[in-house]
Amino acid sequence: MMLELEGLSAGYGADAVLHDVDIQLNPGEIVTLIGANGAGKSTLVNAISGLIRPFSGQIRFEGQRIEQLAPAARLRLGIAHVPEGRHTFAGMTVAENLRLGAFLDGGADWMARARKLFRYFPVLEERFGATAGNFSGGQQQMLAIARGLMSEPKLLMLDEPSLGLSPLLVSEIFKLVRRLRDEGLTILLVEQNARQALQIADRGYVIENGRVTLSGTAEALIRSKDISERYLGIG
Ligand code: ATP
Repeated sequence: MMLELEGLSAGYGADAVLHDVDIQLNPGEIVTLIGANGAGKSTLVNAISGLIRPFSGQIRFEGQRIEQLAPAARLRLGIAHVPEGRHTFAGMTVAENLRLGAFLDGGADWMARARKLFRYFPVLEERFGATAGNFSGGQQQMLAIARGLMSEPKLLMLDEPSLGLSPLLVSEIFKLVRRLRDEGLTILLVEQNARQALQIADRGYVIENGRVTLSGTAEALIRSKDISERYLGIG
């Protein structure tokens, strides 16, 4: 097992958002989290990357308890988080943004790492010295994902990577995510775009009001009447 959440409760201040959540990720699979706005998906990812500490419950990564570790320690173990809204550094170049992604290792071989990523992101090679602030939404999302990969993670967590992108770019992002999985990466994918997420995922969890209400293989979830009605727009 790569990641295990057991009885996880978490939130902000005194307010619990997640209640008693159990989730597992096996190595090499795409697991998608589906749920309405405000269901708690981002909160779950924040708890795994260490941006918030859980109120109770366990998070194990490759068998090791991590729920009390600082975010940098979790990153060092191999957990990368690409947050919702991309958060690339607009005033910096592509190169500088990527270099920041390798900061944990002092950035020593950052250029070699960046070069390895160019096969996934040809646009970033073409625009290596260009300022990120002028990029389109799709290019910024590619840059945010590439920056996440610069730490050479085992687990990549993507929070709403397709948000605000045109259908063509959404397809490109999903194709990329599948390719990364096919090459061995484990991926936790938070998506509003449930249909496309389930098409590339191996398994999924439905989160409602901070609780897991349904889980299963992506195929089973696509066939589920409940999911079709609520999340796939089929009445
Ligand atoms: P979305 O797609 O809108 O991001 P989500 O499923 O990811 O939805 P969360 O962002 O996890 O949902 O939000 C769950 C709840 O936690 C919401 O009620 C939200 O208002 C609250 N919340 C989120 N971030 C914070 C914060 N920094 N401080 C306080 N409450 C927060």
